[in-house]
Amino acid sequence: MSARAAGRQLIRFPGPGRWRLGLAALSLALSACAPLAGSPPPAGAAAQPASPVPPATVAGPPTATASPPAPTAAPPSPPPATSTPVLLPSPTAEPEITLLFTGDINPARCVYEYMRAANDMALPYRALAETLQAADLTIGSLDASISDYNPPSPCNELHRNLLAPAAVVEGLQFAGFDLMAAATNHVRDCGLVRGCDFESLLDTRANLLAAGIQPVGIGRDLAEAAAPVLVTVRGVRFAFLAFTAVNGEVWAGPDRPGAAPFLKDVYLEAVRQARAQADVVVVQPHWGREFTGQLSWEQTGGAQALVEAGADLVVGNNPHHVQAVEAFPNGAVVAYALGNFVFDQQWSDGTRYTVQGLLLRARFRGAALQDVDLIPIVIVNNFQPQLAPPDQAAEILQAVADSLGTRPGSGN
Ligand SMILES: [Zn+2]
Repeated sequence: MSARAAGRQLIRFPGPGRWRLGLAALSLALSACAPLAGSPPPAGAAAQPASPVPPATVAGPPTATASPPAPTAAPPSPPPATSTPVLLPSPTAEPEITLLFTGDINPARCVYEYMRAANDMALPYRALAETLQAADLTIGSLDASISDYNPPSPCNELHRNLLAPAAVVEGLQFAGFDLMAAATNHVRDCGLVRGCDFESLLDTRANLLAAGIQPVGIGRDLAEAAAPVLVTVRGVRFAFLAFTAVNGEVWAGPDRPGAAPFLKDVYLEAVRQARAQADVVVVQPHWGREFTGQLSWEQTGGAQALVEAGADLVVGNNPHHVQAVEAFPNGAVVAYALGNFVFDQQWSDGTRYTVQGLLLRARFRGAALQDVDLIPIVIVNNFQPQLAPPDQAAEILQAVADSLGTRPGSGN
């Protein structure tokens, strides 16, 4: 499928940096989504409950005429003749910075078998390499461990033990990943031959670091796992945190290696500390129920608490299913789950949700979040994400919109 066949959903925000992309002619009334009204409150204003304010205007659905994702800092492609004119952002001295987030990545099991057979660790990332590499920061979610302690998990989708060999970091490097949320339920997976204590988890951390990829949310103890990873891009200080609500077996303790637990005392204190050291705070929780678009209290209550504590952007994963994206009145954005990105779960053939996902591209001007693009992807041949063809892109964006209506207490 041609890259040009893919499209995207655009979430737009009001404010000085507002711009409009000429996708308005591609009308799909995603009923759960309506424009944000009015101007955002001043910076630092307390977050308000998100519901019922949904994401801002959604321009969609993608069609064969929609532009592929533009490279960083490139102007939007010319719109079709029938669409709204493009208004470029007003000139400003603030730098434009883009962050690109993926869904869950499992470079183990059958995905590794495909890579090994092709002798190409970059194979899963090749179709989207340009998009992945173009962002200022590319950020994944590793739902596996990376270690040579044991032989890699065999290609059997029934095995829920996701151990990939150290060589797979070559592919992550090729894809341009800068940071990787590693606070996931599989980060202590150790294969099938002999048991691990913390070897696979510590190897995962060391292997990512050796490849120049910052692991987020894991450490040699709780303090290290919950400490923000700080990255400065053109003078703007970003702090990254990751936590897992899933699998207490992987949680770090005061003297125990592991992942940062998604426990309220832990994440609130971590966000406050990150807020004190950075201009932008990004949180990646591994949370929610698997294989559903339905949001849980843990997610919606957690998102609210994270935003109130100072998170600017929350990008969750773990459900293997795309979920809602919503904008809070203070400008913070929460994407509950981006679905799978690189994963061997094509058993959902009938419904396709485990082979569908999103890339989320967040564009900042200085430290201010300007807009968020959702780029639908599909996983082809059980290992390689590609831009979604129009029919599936529309399905994926519809699933995102439908998920917003499943907020607990929303009456749906
Ligand atoms: Zn998971």
